[in-house]
Amino acid sequence: MRAIVVTPKESNTLRIKDIDVPKISKKGILLEVQRIGICGTDRDIISGFYGEAPTGDDYLVLGHESLSRVAEVWGSVQGFKKGDVVVPTVRRKCPENCLNCRSGESDMCITGHYKEHGIKQLHGFASDFAIIDASFVVRLPESLSDLGVLLEPLTIVEKGEVQTYRLQQARMKWEPKNALVLGAGPVGILATAILRLRGLEVHTVATRATNSLKARLVEQTGASYINSKETSLSTMEGVYDIVFEITGSSSVALEAQQLIGVNGVVCYLGIYRKQVDKEDEGKLFTDLVLGNKVHFGSVNANKAYFEKGAKDLVAIRRKWPGLLEKMITRRAQPEDLEKAYSPESEEDVKTIIEFRK
Ligand code: BGC
Repeated sequence: MRAIVVTPKESNTLRIKDIDVPKISKKGILLEVQRIGICGTDRDIISGFYGEAPTGDDYLVLGHESLSRVAEVWGSVQGFKKGDVVVPTVRRKCPENCLNCRSGESDMCITGHYKEHGIKQLHGFASDFAIIDASFVVRLPESLSDLGVLLEPLTIVEKGEVQTYRLQQARMKWEPKNALVLGAGPVGILATAILRLRGLEVHTVATRATNSLKARLVEQTGASYINSKETSLSTMEGVYDIVFEITGSSSVALEAQQLIGVNGVVCYLGIYRKQVDKEDEGKLFTDLVLGNKVHFGSVNANKAYFEKGAKDLVAIRRKWPGLLEKMITRRAQPEDLEKAYSPESEEDVKTIIEFRK
Protein backbone atom coordinates (compact mmCIF):
# COMPACT_ATOMS: atom_id res chain seq x y z
CA MET A 1 0.00 0.00 0.00
CA ARG A 2 1.01 3.60 -0.37
CA ALA A 3 2.56 5.48 2.46
CA ILE A 4 3.85 9.04 2.54
CA VAL A 5 7.24 8.86 4.17
CA VAL A 6 10.35 10.85 4.89
CA THR A 7 13.81 10.00 6.10
CA PRO A 8 13.76 11.97 9.33
CA LYS A 9 16.48 14.50 10.06
CA GLU A 10 17.30 14.79 6.36
CA SER A 11 15.76 17.56 4.36
CA ASN A 12 13.51 16.97 1.38
CA THR A 13 13.27 13.19 1.41
CA LEU A 14 9.49 13.21 1.13
CA ARG A 15 8.34 10.30 -0.98
CA ILE A 16 5.72 7.60 -1.47
CA LYS A 17 6.85 4.21 -0.28
CA ASP A 18 5.18 0.92 -0.97
CA ILE A 19 4.72 -0.84 2.33
CA ASP A 20 2.70 -3.84 3.50
CA VAL A 21 -0.87 -3.45 4.73
CA PRO A 22 -0.57 -3.91 8.49
CA LYS A 23 -2.30 -6.88 10.08
CA ILE A 24 -4.89 -6.31 12.72
CA SER A 25 -3.94 -7.66 16.10
CA LYS A 26 -5.37 -7.93 19.59
CA LYS A 27 -7.55 -4.98 20.68
CA GLY A 28 -6.88 -3.37 17.35
CA ILE A 29 -8.78 -1.63 14.62
CA LEU A 30 -7.75 -1.56 10.99
CA LEU A 31 -8.26 1.97 9.74
CA GLU A 32 -9.08 2.77 6.22
CA VAL A 33 -7.54 6.19 6.14
CA GLN A 34 -9.76 8.88 4.65
CA ARG A 35 -8.02 12.17 5.18
CA ILE A 36 -4.76 13.50 6.45
CA GLY A 37 -4.18 17.06 7.47
CA ILE A 38 -0.85 18.75 6.94
CA CYS A 39 0.49 21.23 9.39
CA GLY A 40 3.62 23.11 10.25
CA THR A 41 4.92 20.09 12.14
CA ASP A 42 4.79 18.01 8.97
CA ARG A 43 6.67 20.74 7.13
CA ASP A 44 9.26 20.83 9.85
CA ILE A 45 9.67 17.07 9.59
CA ILE A 46 10.00 17.33 5.84
CA SER A 47 12.64 19.99 6.14
CA GLY A 48 14.60 17.74 8.51
CA PHE A 49 14.15 19.90 11.60
CA TYR A 50 11.88 17.52 13.49
CA GLY A 51 10.71 13.91 13.47
CA GLU A 52 12.07 10.47 14.37
CA ALA A 53 11.65 7.11 12.70
CA PRO A 54 10.40 4.09 14.65
CA THR A 55 13.17 1.94 16.03
CA GLY A 56 14.42 -0.39 13.31
CA ASP A 57 13.06 1.68 10.42
CA ASP A 58 14.90 4.28 8.41
CA TYR A 59 11.72 6.05 7.38
CA LEU A 60 8.73 7.65 9.03
CA VAL A 61 5.19 7.52 7.68
CA LEU A 62 3.80 11.03 8.07
CA GLY A 63 0.29 12.03 9.07
CA HIS A 64 -0.85 12.80 12.59
CA GLU A 65 -3.94 14.78 11.61
CA SER A 66 -6.20 12.14 10.18
CA LEU A 67 -9.68 10.85 9.62
CA SER A 68 -10.49 7.23 8.87
CA ARG A 69 -13.25 4.74 8.53
CA VAL A 70 -13.10 1.50 10.42
CA ALA A 71 -12.17 -1.31 8.03
CA GLU A 72 -11.96 -4.19 10.50
CA VAL A 73 -12.34 -4.64 14.22
CA TRP A 74 -10.62 -7.25 16.37
CA GLY A 75 -13.18 -9.73 17.66
CA SER A 76 -13.33 -8.70 21.29
CA VAL A 77 -13.31 -4.94 20.67
CA GLN A 78 -16.61 -3.29 21.54
CA GLY A 79 -18.08 -0.01 20.37
CA PHE A 80 -16.87 0.10 16.78
CA LYS A 81 -18.15 -1.36 13.56
CA LYS A 82 -16.97 -1.40 10.00
CA GLY A 83 -17.59 1.95 8.33
CA ASP A 84 -17.54 4.09 11.48
CA VAL A 85 -15.92 7.50 11.09
CA VAL A 86 -13.00 7.72 13.47
CA VAL A 87 -9.99 9.78 14.43
CA PRO A 88 -7.03 8.33 16.29
CA THR A 89 -5.15 10.31 18.91
CA VAL A 90 -1.50 11.06 18.28
CA ARG A 91 0.56 10.47 21.38
CA ARG A 92 1.38 7.23 23.18
CA LYS A 93 2.80 6.71 26.63
CA CYS A 94 6.48 6.53 27.48
CA PRO A 95 8.18 3.17 28.17
CA GLU A 96 8.71 4.21 31.77
CA ASN A 97 4.92 4.64 32.12
CA CYS A 98 5.38 7.86 34.08
CA LEU A 99 2.79 9.30 36.45
CA ASN A 100 0.96 11.22 33.75
CA CYS A 101 1.23 8.59 31.05
CA ARG A 102 -0.26 5.97 33.31
CA SER A 103 -3.06 8.37 34.23
CA GLY A 104 -4.04 8.65 30.59
CA GLU A 105 -2.39 12.04 30.16
CA SER A 106 0.53 11.23 27.92
CA ASP A 107 0.22 14.81 26.67
CA MET A 108 1.77 15.69 30.02
CA CYS A 109 4.47 13.00 29.86
CA ILE A 110 7.27 13.67 32.29
CA THR A 111 10.12 11.69 30.77
CA GLY A 112 9.82 13.09 27.25
CA HIS A 113 10.08 9.53 25.94
CA TYR A 114 6.53 9.52 24.64
CA LYS A 115 5.92 8.52 21.06
CA GLU A 116 3.76 10.30 18.48
CA HIS A 117 2.21 8.86 15.36
CA GLY A 118 3.64 10.49 12.28
CA ILE A 119 6.08 12.54 14.30
CA LYS A 120 8.18 10.65 16.79
CA GLN A 121 9.02 6.93 16.67
CA LEU A 122 5.62 5.76 15.45
CA HIS A 123 4.41 5.71 11.89
CA GLY A 124 1.62 8.10 11.08
CA PHE A 125 -1.62 7.61 9.25
CA ALA A 126 -0.60 8.86 5.81
CA SER A 127 -1.04 5.44 4.29
CA ASP A 128 -3.90 3.50 2.77
CA PHE A 129 -4.43 1.55 5.95
CA ALA A 130 -3.16 1.73 9.47
CA ILE A 131 -3.73 -0.24 12.61
CA ILE A 132 -4.40 1.21 15.97
CA ASP A 133 -5.35 0.10 19.46
CA ALA A 134 -9.09 0.74 19.81
CA SER A 135 -8.59 2.60 23.06
CA PHE A 136 -6.96 5.44 21.14
CA VAL A 137 -9.75 5.95 18.66
CA VAL A 138 -12.56 8.50 18.84
CA ARG A 139 -15.76 7.90 16.92
CA LEU A 140 -17.37 10.81 15.09
CA PRO A 141 -20.86 11.23 13.67
CA GLU A 142 -21.30 10.49 10.02
CA SER A 143 -21.83 14.21 9.43
CA LEU A 144 -18.13 14.70 10.18
CA SER A 145 -16.92 12.15 7.67
CA ASP A 146 -15.05 14.94 5.92
CA LEU A 147 -14.44 17.75 8.39
CA GLY A 148 -13.45 15.42 11.15
CA VAL A 149 -9.94 15.75 9.81
CA LEU A 150 -9.82 19.06 11.67
CA LEU A 151 -10.34 17.37 14.98
CA GLU A 152 -6.68 16.86 15.81
CA PRO A 153 -5.65 20.51 15.31
CA LEU A 154 -8.76 21.54 17.21
CA THR A 155 -7.70 19.42 20.15
CA ILE A 156 -4.55 21.51 20.43
CA VAL A 157 -6.72 24.57 20.91
CA GLU A 158 -9.09 22.79 23.29
CA LYS A 159 -6.26 21.86 25.57
CA GLY A 160 -4.76 25.35 25.40
CA GLU A 161 -8.07 26.92 26.31
CA VAL A 162 -8.87 24.58 29.17
CA GLN A 163 -5.38 24.95 30.61
CA THR A 164 -5.50 28.73 30.32
CA TYR A 165 -8.71 28.95 32.32
CA ARG A 166 -7.66 26.37 34.85
CA LEU A 167 -4.41 28.14 35.49
CA GLN A 168 -5.88 31.53 36.22
CA GLN A 169 -9.06 30.33 37.90
CA ALA A 170 -6.98 28.26 40.29
CA ARG A 171 -5.21 31.46 41.29
CA MET A 172 -8.03 34.01 41.46
CA LYS A 173 -11.51 34.94 40.35
CA TRP A 174 -10.94 35.32 36.66
CA GLU A 175 -13.43 36.32 34.04
CA PRO A 176 -11.53 37.21 30.91
CA LYS A 177 -13.26 39.52 28.49
CA ASN A 178 -11.00 39.52 25.48
CA ALA A 179 -8.38 37.49 23.68
CA LEU A 180 -5.79 38.01 21.00
CA VAL A 181 -4.88 35.21 18.63
CA LEU A 182 -1.54 35.60 16.93
CA GLY A 183 -1.64 33.69 13.68
CA ALA A 184 -4.52 32.81 11.43
CA GLY A 185 -3.47 29.43 10.16
CA PRO A 186 -5.84 26.53 10.83
CA VAL A 187 -5.06 26.42 14.53
CA GLY A 188 -5.35 30.21 14.74
CA ILE A 189 -8.75 30.15 13.15
CA LEU A 190 -9.91 27.26 15.32
CA ALA A 191 -8.63 29.10 18.35
CA THR A 192 -10.52 32.19 17.29
CA ALA A 193 -13.66 30.13 17.03
CA ILE A 194 -13.24 28.42 20.37
CA LEU A 195 -12.53 31.67 22.18
CA ARG A 196 -15.54 33.26 20.54
CA LEU A 197 -17.63 30.29 21.68
CA ARG A 198 -16.51 31.16 25.17
CA GLY A 199 -18.07 34.56 24.63
CA LEU A 200 -14.83 36.53 24.45
CA GLU A 201 -14.14 39.52 22.27
CA VAL A 202 -11.44 38.15 20.00
CA HIS A 203 -8.91 39.88 17.78
CA THR A 204 -6.87 37.75 15.44
CA VAL A 205 -3.65 39.02 13.90
CA ALA A 206 -1.86 37.75 10.81
CA THR A 207 0.06 39.03 7.84
CA ARG A 208 -2.65 38.43 5.26
CA ALA A 209 -4.62 41.32 3.79
CA THR A 210 -7.85 42.38 5.42
CA ASN A 211 -9.86 41.06 2.51
CA SER A 212 -8.12 37.66 2.45
CA LEU A 213 -9.93 34.40 3.10
CA LYS A 214 -8.26 34.02 6.47
CA ALA A 215 -9.48 37.45 7.45
CA ARG A 216 -12.97 36.62 6.35
CA LEU A 217 -13.01 33.33 8.24
CA VAL A 218 -11.89 35.10 11.36
CA GLU A 219 -14.57 37.73 10.93
CA GLN A 220 -17.22 35.09 10.36
CA THR A 221 -16.85 34.08 13.96
CA GLY A 222 -17.53 37.64 15.05
CA ALA A 223 -13.85 38.22 15.84
CA SER A 224 -12.00 41.11 14.29
CA TYR A 225 -9.04 40.60 12.01
CA ILE A 226 -5.93 42.72 12.22
CA ASN A 227 -3.35 42.82 9.47
CA SER A 228 0.02 43.04 11.19
CA LYS A 229 1.47 44.82 8.19
CA GLU A 230 -0.94 47.68 8.76
CA THR A 231 -1.17 47.68 12.54
CA SER A 232 1.87 47.18 14.71
CA LEU A 233 1.57 44.80 17.66
CA SER A 234 3.07 47.49 19.84
CA THR A 235 -0.23 49.38 19.69
CA MET A 236 -1.87 46.45 21.49
CA GLU A 237 0.41 46.35 24.52
CA GLY A 238 -1.23 45.50 27.82
CA VAL A 239 -4.66 45.09 26.31
CA TYR A 240 -5.54 41.39 26.46
CA ASP A 241 -6.66 38.87 29.06
CA ILE A 242 -5.56 35.96 26.89
CA VAL A 243 -3.03 35.77 24.09
CA PHE A 244 -2.74 32.61 22.03
CA GLU A 245 0.56 32.58 20.15
CA ILE A 246 0.38 30.32 17.14
CA THR A 247 2.63 31.96 14.56
CA GLY A 248 5.65 29.83 15.40
CA SER A 249 7.80 32.93 15.15
CA SER A 250 10.01 33.46 18.16
CA SER A 251 10.11 37.23 17.68
CA VAL A 252 6.32 37.38 17.76
CA ALA A 253 6.35 35.00 20.73
CA LEU A 254 8.61 37.39 22.60
CA GLU A 255 6.37 40.31 21.79
CA ALA A 256 3.29 38.34 22.91
CA GLN A 257 4.36 38.78 26.49
CA GLN A 258 3.86 42.54 26.22
CA LEU A 259 0.35 42.25 24.91
CA ILE A 260 -1.40 40.83 27.96
CA GLY A 261 -2.79 43.09 30.62
CA VAL A 262 -3.10 42.52 34.37
CA ASN A 263 -3.81 38.86 35.22
CA GLY A 264 -3.38 38.00 31.56
CA VAL A 265 -2.11 34.72 30.19
CA VAL A 266 -0.07 33.92 27.13
CA CYS A 267 -0.61 30.45 25.79
CA TYR A 268 2.06 29.36 23.30
CA LEU A 269 0.97 26.70 20.87
CA GLY A 270 3.54 26.97 18.10
CA ILE A 271 6.68 25.06 17.33
CA TYR A 272 9.33 27.70 17.01
CA ARG A 273 11.59 26.98 14.12
CA LYS A 274 15.28 27.59 14.20
CA GLN A 275 16.03 31.01 12.87
CA VAL A 276 19.50 31.63 11.60
CA ASP A 277 20.47 34.14 14.26
CA LYS A 278 17.78 33.37 16.81
CA GLU A 279 18.24 29.70 17.47
CA ASP A 280 18.16 30.00 21.24
CA GLU A 281 15.05 32.11 21.29
CA GLY A 282 13.21 29.60 19.15
CA LYS A 283 14.37 26.78 21.40
CA LEU A 284 13.17 28.63 24.47
CA PHE A 285 9.62 28.79 23.17
CA THR A 286 9.62 25.31 21.66
CA ASP A 287 10.77 23.91 25.00
CA LEU A 288 7.98 25.84 26.68
CA VAL A 289 5.42 24.24 24.38
CA LEU A 290 6.80 20.72 24.24
CA GLY A 291 7.29 20.67 27.97
CA ASN A 292 3.86 22.06 28.91
CA LYS A 293 5.79 24.60 30.95
CA VAL A 294 4.26 27.57 32.69
CA HIS A 295 5.51 31.09 32.33
CA PHE A 296 3.57 33.49 34.45
CA GLY A 297 3.94 36.55 36.58
CA SER A 298 3.06 37.19 40.19
CA VAL A 299 3.27 40.25 42.42
CA ASN A 300 2.48 41.14 46.02
CA ALA A 301 0.50 38.95 48.42
CA ASN A 302 -2.94 39.45 49.87
CA LYS A 303 -4.01 39.00 53.47
CA ALA A 304 -4.76 35.33 53.01
CA TYR A 305 -1.14 34.72 52.11
CA PHE A 306 -0.02 36.67 55.16
CA GLU A 307 -2.19 34.55 57.39
CA LYS A 308 -0.86 31.40 55.83
CA GLY A 309 2.68 32.73 56.14
CA ALA A 310 2.27 33.47 59.82
CA LYS A 311 1.25 29.90 60.51
CA ASP A 312 4.09 28.56 58.43
CA LEU A 313 6.67 30.65 60.26
CA VAL A 314 5.55 29.10 63.52
CA ALA A 315 5.78 25.70 61.91
CA ILE A 316 9.28 26.38 60.60
CA ARG A 317 10.52 27.56 63.97
CA ARG A 318 9.13 24.48 65.58
CA LYS A 319 10.48 22.14 63.01
CA TRP A 320 13.89 23.74 62.49
CA PRO A 321 14.84 25.69 65.60
CA GLY A 322 17.38 28.45 64.94
CA LEU A 323 16.99 28.41 61.19
CA LEU A 324 15.17 31.70 60.90
CA GLU A 325 17.49 33.36 63.36
CA LYS A 326 20.53 32.29 61.39
CA MET A 327 19.14 33.80 58.26
CA ILE A 328 19.67 37.24 59.70
CA THR A 329 23.33 37.71 59.09
CA ARG A 330 23.67 41.44 59.57
CA ARG A 331 21.99 43.83 61.92
CA ALA A 332 22.45 47.53 61.63
CA GLN A 333 21.22 50.60 63.40
CA PRO A 334 19.44 53.33 61.49
CA GLU A 335 22.57 55.44 61.99
CA ASP A 336 24.65 52.82 60.23
CA LEU A 337 23.06 53.20 56.85
CA GLU A 338 26.32 52.92 55.02
CA LYS A 339 26.99 49.64 56.67
CA ALA A 340 23.43 48.48 56.26
CA TYR A 341 23.31 49.19 52.59
CA SER A 342 26.88 48.28 51.75
CA PRO A 343 27.29 45.28 49.48
CA GLU A 344 26.70 42.08 51.33
CA SER A 345 29.34 39.41 51.51
CA GLU A 346 28.76 35.99 50.02
CA GLU A 347 27.84 34.67 53.41
CA ASP A 348 25.14 37.22 53.94
CA VAL A 349 21.54 36.18 53.77
CA LYS A 350 19.50 38.97 55.30
CA THR A 351 20.44 42.36 56.58
CA ILE A 352 18.01 44.08 58.88
CA ILE A 353 17.94 47.54 60.28
CA GLU A 354 16.98 47.65 63.92
CA PHE A 355 15.25 50.80 65.05
CA ARG A 356 15.03 49.52 68.54
CA LYS A 357 16.96 46.93 70.33
C1 BGC B 1 0.68 17.90 16.85
C2 BGC B 1 0.72 17.40 18.27
C3 BGC B 1 2.13 17.09 18.66
C4 BGC B 1 3.03 18.27 18.39
C5 BGC B 1 4.46 18.05 18.78
C6 BGC B 1 1.66 19.00 16.64
O1 BGC B 1 1.66 19.36 15.31
O2 BGC B 1 -0.60 18.35 16.52
O3 BGC B 1 -0.11 16.27 18.41
O4 BGC B 1 2.19 16.74 20.02
O5 BGC B 1 2.96 18.62 17.03
O6 BGC B 1 5.09 16.97 18.18
